[in-house]
Amino acid sequence: MINKRLVMIPGPTPVVRSIQDQMGRETVAFGDPGFVKDFKGVIEDLKTLLGTTGEVFVIAGSGTLMMEMAIANSLKSGDNLLIVSNGFFGDRFNTFVLSKGINVDVISAEWGKVVPASEIEAKLKEKTYQAITVTHVDTSTAAVAPIEEIGEMMKKFPETLYIVDGVAATAGEKEHVDAMNIDILFTGSQKAFGVAPGLGMLWASEKAMARRASLGPIPEYYADFDRWLPIMKDPGKYFATPAVNMIWALQESIRIIKEEGLENRYARHIKNAKAMRSALEAMGFSILADEANRAVTLSCVLYPEGLDDLKFRTVLAEEGAQVAGGLAAYAGKMFRMGHMGNIDDHDLVSATAAIERTLYRMGNDVLGKGVEALQRGLL
Ligand code: PMP
Repeated sequence: MINKRLVMIPGPTPVVRSIQDQMGRETVAFGDPGFVKDFKGVIEDLKTLLGTTGEVFVIAGSGTLMMEMAIANSLKSGDNLLIVSNGFFGDRFNTFVLSKGINVDVISAEWGKVVPASEIEAKLKEKTYQAITVTHVDTSTAAVAPIEEIGEMMKKFPETLYIVDGVAATAGEKEHVDAMNIDILFTGSQKAFGVAPGLGMLWASEKAMARRASLGPIPEYYADFDRWLPIMKDPGKYFATPAVNMIWALQESIRIIKEEGLENRYARHIKNAKAMRSALEAMGFSILADEANRAVTLSCVLYPEGLDDLKFRTVLAEEGAQVAGGLAAYAGKMFRMGHMGNIDDHDLVSATAAIERTLYRMGNDVLGKGVEALQRGLL
């Protein structure tokens, strides 16, 4: 018999039944009064949840659209952007901003480490940047950036917008838009919100909205704040068809988050991450990110000498758990495992046991070691 498939990649994350049910509802017209009320509630809840007096945008698309939207509404041709990169997704900004005529400087950390706030500050003193981007958790390294400390430092540079990529962080790692001095924060539905892929969410501070206004018309159409703002203020209006069922799914995800309590959710992520990592270490793996900056949402897990990546992930999939491969220089050397969103103790135990069975089938008998370490961590 084939095992159930446990999606332990760093997004999409497992989608719980009650969220699936919302996706399976009969679709209604986007002008349906019930749906308009639900959409309005989602926008208001997201503002409160992440703490902003600014605006929230909920749009059909993935995290990459949100990256583009953040840049398009903050910078014009000739502006200066500082990209703070802690890995593959930090670097991704640099793949599309150049074609917009934006001048780019990049400060990068070695994979597994993060650029400290002091280094960013030194760079910001050299010239005026209209914006900086920081990836809260880079999914290629599972290193977490000190976004609160950076936000505090950014108070010295009021001309510069602080853009945070929260795709692998929001609703799992602690974030507060206004209190952390963040101007733009964005994420995708498929990560720590535990919804299937399909929605992008973006929070824009009052300062970010003022910057958008100062730009005048921009070349982008679908990604323009100004096209969407009337809809976010009154979801009964039309600009482009909203993803009705996905918005219901997000509404259910928000209900789950409110029921758990955001602070409890953060605490659960910390506990789960510690337990999962002690289990991985007990099975002979090691963790890429420095101890001081390990994310709670996922882990990048280095193989012990001699363990073949492709074989490991293939056998693990047969045992019922899917993890992702390493990126760039770490392809073949590590796997990436998500432990964010609405995963519970059953998921963690099952995933750990599946890894044990995989190792056993590959000639490495560590049966019980991972599960014991995990359960001790969870308890
Ligand atoms: N930023 C980060 C940190 C990510 O992890 C990802 C996707 N894994 C993206 C951006 C891009 O998001 P998407 O794949 O949803 O377009």
